[in-house]
Amino acid sequence: MSTPMSRAEWRRRKRRKAMIIRITVFAFLGAVLAALVFGCVVAYRELFMHEQLGTVSSAGDQEVLNRMLEISEFSRPGARMAKRDTKGIVIHCTDNPGTSAMEQRNYYNSLKTTKGNHLSVHFIVDLDGKIVQCIPVNEQALASGARNADTLAIEFCYESDTGEPGKFTYASLVKLTASLLARYGLGADCVYRHSDISSFADCTCPKWFEDDQRWNEFITAVMAQAAVLGKKK
Ligand SMILES: [Zn+2]
Repeated sequence: MSTPMSRAEWRRRKRRKAMIIRITVFAFLGAVLAALVFGCVVAYRELFMHEQLGTVSSAGDQEVLNRMLEISEFSRPGARMAKRDTKGIVIHCTDNPGTSAMEQRNYYNSLKTTKGNHLSVHFIVDLDGKIVQCIPVNEQALASGARNADTLAIEFCYESDTGEPGKFTYASLVKLTASLLARYGLGADCVYRHSDISSFADCTCPKWFEDDQRWNEFITAVMAQAAVLGKKK
């Protein structure tokens, strides 16, 4: 048989119970507060820091890897390009079958040392669909001659000499182009092939899209994706 609880013991247990409830409530409130602060920091970074730094974190559901080039007149001159001055998106291919996005990015970065060329793009879409950003969107790349000052440059990787982007590359290229159009409030007529805007008559970049039907299909896919992004907003 259990002995009846003394009054002091009863009070002690009651106090302990109250203490446990208090600790639980404080822990819960603390967790809510921490989540709130974390959320605010993330939102702040998304809304303001990206704009300031010129970084893009994603294109639809595709993550964009931030691998900026070092400042150099040969690849990243650091010339500013304001958001309001960004009038178009130019599509290029690497002109190097089998080259990966990071190999291409590292080549651009190496120009600082080799001084072999003046070249770079803002984004490179990899063979597996990964996207690498190597120039901030608020800076000029060295990709499209006179249009460097008012366009963003996207380059895609490909496997064979035909220049055809693989399935994953194509899908990411569509997502990235669409999300940039949405970001800058631009329409389909602001997406160009390099050859459309090049001052060189013999420019055939990007080779795969020299075929107008392929190019029109690509633009249609981009606009369909842009419509999806518009609805999500
Ligand atoms: Zn090109």
